[in-house]
Amino acid sequence: MSDTPCVIVSGASRGLGAAIARALAQIGAAVVVTARSAVPLDALVSDIRAADGQAFAIAGDISDPTTAQRCVNAALDNFGRVDAVVNNAAIIEPIARLADVDAEAWRRLFDVNVLGAVLLAQAALPQLRERGGRVINVSSGAAVRPIRAWGAYCASKAALNMFNAALAAEEPQITAIAVRPGVIDTPMQDVIRKRGADAMPPEDYARFLSLHEARQLLPPAKPGQAIAALALYAPRAWSGEFVSWDEPRVAALGTEAR
Ligand code: NAP
Repeated sequence: MSDTPCVIVSGASRGLGAAIARALAQIGAAVVVTARSAVPLDALVSDIRAADGQAFAIAGDISDPTTAQRCVNAALDNFGRVDAVVNNAAIIEPIARLADVDAEAWRRLFDVNVLGAVLLAQAALPQLRERGGRVINVSSGAAVRPIRAWGAYCASKAALNMFNAALAAEEPQITAIAVRPGVIDTPMQDVIRKRGADAMPPEDYARFLSLHEARQLLPPAKPGQAIAALALYAPRAWSGEFVSWDEPRVAALGTEAR
């Protein structure tokens, strides 16, 4: 059995997920990275290996149950263990008022943002139970605060938070944490700026434009490092909680001596 912890990270082809994977590799964990886009995933794996890290890519749609099982199999075949799962993959569209939203688009968002997380956690559960492992669910402030025209996304993140709490209640051997990662400079913010103007109220839309223009969006590496620390070190006592990436107790995890 390898001494190196292994973490599966979904939505790792870009944005926050890629930053979480890089941070985990820097700390010394092996990573299985997954998303639909094989080319950026392979580039990420090459980068991590070039820096003497350990990584393996699985290209697939996270709403397809076979993707989750392929990730777990890849972790076991390549690294011999699964210590944590980071459910990071998500989409924000449809950006539409509830009166107008297309039911199929709503269903698709739930398949990715909620079911995808359930499937990956479920597939890894036997390993996580054995190792006292962790499930980190990347949530959002939108889980607890409605944003007009983001109804599907807000509802999916509220569902993810309750999935997190239910998992913690049912599985005392593992640690399940939902985390608010802040407002981050990723391609998801590009989607909001490009597609939000029609349906979002002008004042809400303007807030996202101005965060970008004023360079107030977080670099992905900052919450990425905090989430990597949660995946490797979050204490069992926190299981079921919804934490913020920038809480002092989270920052302390990454700096405590091991
Ligand atoms: P992003 O840049 O859009 O990246 C999303 C990732 O999810 C990509 O790697 C994408 O890869 C993957 N993904 C999307 N659909 C998928 C599917 N069907 N199957 C597998 N992978 C899929 O988003 P981000 O900003 O980094 O967001 C990461 C997480 O942080 C999300 O959970 C998001 O809700 C949360 N969050 C972000 C912000 C923010 O300000 N950016 C704020 C709060 C919360 P492929 O397209 O290659 O599949």
